[in-house]
Amino acid sequence: MPKQQHTPKRDCVRVVPLATPELAKRVATPQSAQLVYNNGPLIASVQVFGIFWGTEWQQATLAGMIPEVNQFFDYILTSPLIDQLAEYSVPQYSIQHGKRAGSVALPTPDVPKTVDDSAIQKMIQQQISAGKLPSATPDLLYFVFLPSGVTVTQGGSASCKAFCGYHDAIGKDVFYAVMPFPDCSGCSSGLSNLDALTVTASHELCEAITDPVPGDGWYDNQNGEIGDICAWQTKKVGAYTVQKEWSNQAGRCV
Ligand SMILES: [Zn+2]
Repeated sequence: MPKQQHTPKRDCVRVVPLATPELAKRVATPQSAQLVYNNGPLIASVQVFGIFWGTEWQQATLAGMIPEVNQFFDYILTSPLIDQLAEYSVPQYSIQHGKRAGSVALPTPDVPKTVDDSAIQKMIQQQISAGKLPSATPDLLYFVFLPSGVTVTQGGSASCKAFCGYHDAIGKDVFYAVMPFPDCSGCSSGLSNLDALTVTASHELCEAITDPVPGDGWYDNQNGEIGDICAWQTKKVGAYTVQKEWSNQAGRCV
């Protein structure tokens, strides 16, 4: 299925893959990776706006996670996880701390049980027009969280079958990330729901900052984006479990 809106030079890797034994073997044997800058935009001071889509987020079991996810962004956007991305600053874009610009629960229209990326893009654009979401800016990153039981499809593949999250751009200037709920072992990797989400969200966050238009920013033609090279290698930053990211300077995942 061709990608809508923009036509990348190639179908760029921009998903969190499932945690599988094959993946573990691959990331355990580090190949030489090198991210190359392709002269496109970066997100200099990311402003994250969370969107908790679907009535499920109103119900007790999930409602408690919204403040937890908000607190994660409040902390992580001024943490060493952002500092370590400074090596990817370029003259036009100096990567600095960001902040959480806000978040919203969006019960209506409710999210369908299977939702395609095209419907997620449409929802974002409609909610911007309706004034429920802030307008896009070069620093704004919409983070869409889906409730348990919802399958996301994108590019002909599905969450919990092929991926655990992804980020992309509508056109070349509306940046967003999509977080299906970690409903399967491949996307929870034995972690709590919150830890699985912070691992996946940190992966997509760092990728959106360094490669908001997939393939136009920092990209490795063999290995993909900054997070793909280190998929499911985790570490603690403060109280949070996050993913390691590739460092060109260190020559490894840090
Ligand atoms: Zn990725």
